[in-house]
Amino acid sequence: MPPELEAAEIESLRLAHYNAAVSSMERMHENLFIVRVKPDGGFPPFAAGRYTSLGMGYWEPRQEPCEEEALLEGQERRLAKRAYSVGSPIVAPGERRLIEPAEEDFLEFFVAVVRFGSPGDDEAPALTTRLVLLEAGDRLWIGPKFAGVYGLDRARQGQDFLFCATGTGEAPHNRMVWQLLREGRGRRIVNITCARTRGDLAYHEVHAELMRKYPRYLYHPMTTRDQSGAKLYIQDLIESGKLEAILEARLDPESWDVFLCGNPAMIGAPKTTQGAKTYPEPRGLVEVLETRFGFQADARGARGNVHFETYW
Ligand SMILES: Cc1cc2nc3c(=O)[nH]c(=O)nc-3n(C[C@H](O)[C@H](O)[C@H](O)COP(=O)(O)OP(=O)(O)OC[C@H]3O[C@@H](n4cnc5c(N)ncnc54)[C@H](O)[C@@H]3O)c2cc1C
Repeated sequence: MPPELEAAEIESLRLAHYNAAVSSMERMHENLFIVRVKPDGGFPPFAAGRYTSLGMGYWEPRQEPCEEEALLEGQERRLAKRAYSVGSPIVAPGERRLIEPAEEDFLEFFVAVVRFGSPGDDEAPALTTRLVLLEAGDRLWIGPKFAGVYGLDRARQGQDFLFCATGTGEAPHNRMVWQLLREGRGRRIVNITCARTRGDLAYHEVHAELMRKYPRYLYHPMTTRDQSGAKLYIQDLIESGKLEAILEARLDPESWDVFLCGNPAMIGAPKTTQGAKTYPEPRGLVEVLETRFGFQADARGARGNVHFETYW
């Protein structure tokens, strides 16, 4: 157990470190939420797809159950900070139209609660079991910059867009979809999200509304734990040709840009050592797209038509 700090010290640490407030908190279930955060000083324009950081003090309580924390000396007075893609509500609250930039005085984040770390992690998961306890009006820290290169500016073709995400990896895709629809760009926009259960598909209604309004937009949700029989992952949907059957079109590298975000196993980013490329096991989407369809993933110094952001 970390040493308990006095209430007055906690108050002064919050005052010293926190620079933003929660404008709303919506929990899908105990392990998934959408939080809107309003930075005290506003925020500059930023490209869809980018991420920033959120932070809370190690002095803050955590929601149980969670892995026991072994804090280093003095760590109880520091901030736990993590990267989060900026998402989007896409549509205006209670309305059927796209939200306008002027209506967004908050940044939206879609977050999964991680209660126990993976084997090999040095530290117990620190932030999400604290973030999940926040309510509207509560304070936290937000990073001063938007970072990363993931976004529509990576697109090589600019014609057809395929977004593939696991879980909360749909957040940056939602923002990119919003931008494409606002700007009237994209001949076809396909947004695939693979989550564990239907209860994890937090934006399902919003996507259904977009499909009614924009014939060029297709949302294709997949769940792995609601299915009976073998689990179907996005890799299987694409490799088997089922996606092409749904689209009634070839997944042609000459016209499609593909964006992958979330679980590194879904992405399967290859490693290149001394000019030799090796793909990880089990087979991820980069391997499927490159070897079966002729796509080329972004690599150091070479812009491809498959772009990806791994969350861990
Ligand atoms: C560029 C970038 C953008 C990110 N954007 C998001 C986002 O929009 N939403 C989000 O929920 N997370 C996002 N993450 C992950 C996030 O930074 C944290 O790692 C995560 O929220 C867990 O924080 P933690 O402190 O509780 O645990 P950590 O100590 O950070 O993570 C512990 C373990 O949890 C697992 N894990 C991490 N993230 C997830 C996740 N999202 N779903 C399932 N398991 C996970 C990994 O195995 C990791 O090793 C992003 C990461 C990066 C690098």
